[in-house]
Amino acid sequence: MNTSSTTSLDTETYDYIIVGGGTSGLVVANRLSEDASVRVLVLEAGADATKDPRIFIPGLAPSTYWNPDFDWAFTSTPQKQLGGRTIAHSMGKTLGGSSAINMGMIIWPGRVTFDSWKALGNPGWGWDESMVNYIKKFHTYNPPSAEVQKRVSYEADESAHGTSGPVQVNFGTDYMPYHEAWAPTFKAMGYPLTGDPVTGVSSGAFISGGAIDPVSKTRSHSAAVYFNDEIAKRPNLRVVTEAFVEKVLLKTEEDGSVTAKGVQVRTKDGVLREISTAKEVILAAGSFKSPQILELSGIGNPSLLQLHGIPVVIPNINVGENLQDHALIPFNWEVAEGASADIIAKDPSIMAAAMEAYQTAKAGPLGQNPLVSSFIPIDLSDAERNELVDTQVAAHPPETPAEAAQFEQLRHILDIPNEPTAQYTFAPMQLLSRLGPLPSQIFGMSHDGYFVTVVTALNHPFSRGSTHIASANPTDKPTIDIGYLRHPLDLELEARHLLLLEKIMAAEPMASLLKPRGRRIHNYDKTEPLADLEEAKKVARELVLSNWHTSGSCAMQPLEKGGVVSDKLLVYGTRNLRVVDASIFPLVPRGNIQASVFAVAEKCADVIKGEAGK
Ligand SMILES: Cc1cc2nc3c(=O)[nH]c(=O)nc-3n(C[C@H](O)[C@H](O)[C@H](O)COP(=O)(O)OP(=O)(O)OC[C@H]3O[C@@H](n4cnc5c(N)ncnc54)[C@H](O)[C@@H]3O)c2cc1C
Repeated sequence: MNTSSTTSLDTETYDYIIVGGGTSGLVVANRLSEDASVRVLVLEAGADATKDPRIFIPGLAPSTYWNPDFDWAFTSTPQKQLGGRTIAHSMGKTLGGSSAINMGMIIWPGRVTFDSWKALGNPGWGWDESMVNYIKKFHTYNPPSAEVQKRVSYEADESAHGTSGPVQVNFGTDYMPYHEAWAPTFKAMGYPLTGDPVTGVSSGAFISGGAIDPVSKTRSHSAAVYFNDEIAKRPNLRVVTEAFVEKVLLKTEEDGSVTAKGVQVRTKDGVLREISTAKEVILAAGSFKSPQILELSGIGNPSLLQLHGIPVVIPNINVGENLQDHALIPFNWEVAEGASADIIAKDPSIMAAAMEAYQTAKAGPLGQNPLVSSFIPIDLSDAERNELVDTQVAAHPPETPAEAAQFEQLRHILDIPNEPTAQYTFAPMQLLSRLGPLPSQIFGMSHDGYFVTVVTALNHPFSRGSTHIASANPTDKPTIDIGYLRHPLDLELEARHLLLLEKIMAAEPMASLLKPRGRRIHNYDKTEPLADLEEAKKVARELVLSNWHTSGSCAMQPLEKGGVVSDKLLVYGTRNLRVVDASIFPLVPRGNIQASVFAVAEKCADVIKGEAGK
């Protein structure tokens, strides 16, 4: 398929112009163009790198990070609450977007978050109402074999999964002793798996699937499956890569409403073009770029727009606010003598053997997802947890209507007995926050010795950040105030979960796989576990990293409650400008969010189709 041609790009007519050919954008493009009478154009700033092994071999993902050919490579402003640290944020700049460069984990969201989206004023977005079906719709589940399930102590509930969706969810066969010890260790500590996580209510540890094709062992990302060779033949679907959209062209109508007439885009040949739409413009540029495009187009906080000389078309102070992420805090343990863990990434000959196995037999670690996960409640009684929540929220009450509405929902979620408050994820590698901020430093595996990592992430964070234009120049990166651990409740919960993790990793069978009195990088290479709450808070601030689950910056919420788009995804004040990417999540669902992004985009497509039929 040729996505680089610009021939007659500005003279053709399109019903829908989709900005961003990433995770959500290609889902929506695929579904809208199922109707042969509907003409769809996708404009993607990155190139088509789908044939590049760094994209299609799942295990090579980190080689794309901070590489300008694949990654927007954003950096946050210095974070006061983190001692002035800056945080690096990768985001896919390539056909397929972040799904083409991500870690590939498929983790199922919780039902409580979608139900709270509904309660926030989004009818139709609840779990039972629709989202459970869209989760099934986007994927095909390829369960691990019975032998593997037994080995890793996992029982798949196939009936709850998708059977014919585009994204392939697959498991591996080459699990390490750590993977096998993962679920039994949590069980021994009183956290048995209570059901298949796809049900949206379970807790406990489990082996997680990856977005990987079970036959070719290639990455099952949005460009590979929603825009495959077959779909690309549709005459009514056109995808143009290396096409950088600078702004949406807006017209204020006589009745005061605003119509999106098209977009201004600079194509690969350097030409600045205006492309018209017959019906709608749909933003799918991701949680940093969609709000930036809105602001560049004149939709946003009037004082910010005026500061940068941008005429205000629709004033809305909520654009770019409400930024959320689960954040992650990596802890690293030295492994037992003779055990292999991060060795694949450290020893070139082992990496070469892994590549050989992949290329010759589609075998070995590069074609399977090595990360496994768990959802665990805080180890406090209901009364203790309620008191902690009450005290901390009273100390840092909501500051905006959006926060007021959201905190009410979050408190309701935290009231649910045994609701998992954190996700622990195991990774057979080093994650070295203190060497950061750059991914090459964090993923550099440069610590002497061999280690495994478990990262801790909060499922329902209260901290909020923001992202805004830094100037009127579309090519300038947006400013990102990420806000990790800014809310004191997040710090309290994180610190307790970190201490709990130390206890879990000291339990059998995991304990025997770690070096007796081995070093802990998180505890400054000491051999003792971290055991003090205040010390855990200090370490949390030092180690917290992006979990790449940024969302919420164009929140789907009523306008008076701090929203940017309606439950029909329409940007408030416009007739035909929508947003469909992770930025619309009013509250971030638990777990790694690509499953939620795919499911939400599937629903967005139906919402748009339904609206078009009216
Ligand atoms: C490094 C990394 C690892 C991750 N690991 C996991 C994981 O293991 N599991 C998981 O579930 N989730 C993971 N995630 C999160 C998940 O991949 C993202 O949340 C999700 O893919 C975001 O989808 P999106 O549609 O919102 O944005 P994207 O998929 O990022 O799509 C946005 C697209 O818009 C394009 N674009 C932006 N601006 C413009 C413009 N001006 N003009 C034209 N095009 C533009 C971008 O180039 C991009 O292709 C990870 C993310 C990253 C970055």
